[in-house]
Amino acid sequence: MSLEAKEFITKFESFCPLWLAEQGDPCGLHIGSLDKKIDRVMMTLDVRPEVVSEAIEKDIDLIVAKHPPIFRPVDRLVADDPQTKMYIDLVKHDIAVYAAHTNMDIIWGGLNDWFCEMLGIKESHYLVKTHEARLKKLAVYMPSDNGKQMREALAKTGAGTQGNYRNTSYSLTGVGRFTPNKKANPTIGTQDQEEQVQETRIEVVFPETLQEKVLQAMYQAHPYEEPAYDILPLDNFPQSFGLGRVGYLDSPTHIEDFVQKVKKSFQLDGLRLIQPKEVKQTVQKIAICGGSGGKFYSDALKKEADVYITGDISYHTAHDMQANGLTVIDPGHNIEAVCIKQFIEKMEEWKKEEEWDVEFLPSTVNTNPFQFR
Ligand SMILES: [Zn+2]
Repeated sequence: MSLEAKEFITKFESFCPLWLAEQGDPCGLHIGSLDKKIDRVMMTLDVRPEVVSEAIEKDIDLIVAKHPPIFRPVDRLVADDPQTKMYIDLVKHDIAVYAAHTNMDIIWGGLNDWFCEMLGIKESHYLVKTHEARLKKLAVYMPSDNGKQMREALAKTGAGTQGNYRNTSYSLTGVGRFTPNKKANPTIGTQDQEEQVQETRIEVVFPETLQEKVLQAMYQAHPYEEPAYDILPLDNFPQSFGLGRVGYLDSPTHIEDFVQKVKKSFQLDGLRLIQPKEVKQTVQKIAICGGSGGKFYSDALKKEADVYITGDISYHTAHDMQANGLTVIDPGHNIEAVCIKQFIEKMEEWKKEEEWDVEFLPSTVNTNPFQFR
């Protein structure tokens, strides 16, 4: 039995929600439709013509990509341009493309945290704050027998995720009372007769941005015609999210040793090092931002990082960094390819949990356009 694409994406978004993408970032379904069954899903950093050929060859139904493939508005959809031919090929072979871009950088436990793990950067926090979500609580009342079904439905939306814990909820049992009127169509009870039911109250906390999804799931899982529930705004600290990470190495490390560590961790043939006049010999506080984080170098300075790691640094930005006394390592944009292995592992976990019948494949095409000589 194949898996519904929508079910897979619901699970994906409970981990990597769309509301955490930066404004204007075309995350989410990018090409094709999710209204279909999927047997094979491929994870890739980039969607390039070679990756599309690979997907066709491997009979892929859905590509999950870090980089949304349509960067610029398409003014002609023709087969003699390799970039647009690849869109045509995707549609022709009914391969959908779903992109998780800046939300993958921002989520806790996402790409920037994987970088930190690889480099031994600990106790990290975000470099630049991007989102803040106030918390709400849903308390919903239902017959006790329906509790499990409700908890599972709410967890699928990502509700109940607190720090390193997911599927958190609280329940207590009590007595619910109601009298259906003549127009009612009650699941339990009879019209015009008072009813008493042993009910469970389930409480879950969620970021307010999830409210619509949480209520939708609650209504779908609830057996009653008129579910009883409360939405409570919470005064707890809001959840905050951001791009990049700043943290510490276990001990002060010589810059040359750290450079080698970056090279080895990301299996690079080379990287670019930008050093100020007064070279910092040892480093311990490290800032990192996957992708093109050149514009956040002043945040790395503000956070007093000894070194900042990011890709795609331009000539003039490098001059500014140097003049401001910041040591920067540019390992290239392609280090983001680590997301392929990490996501395949995650998807395999979901597959086990949900007993899905689906195959997850990593793209094996190297999409790094740069080579070192
Ligand atoms: Zn990127």
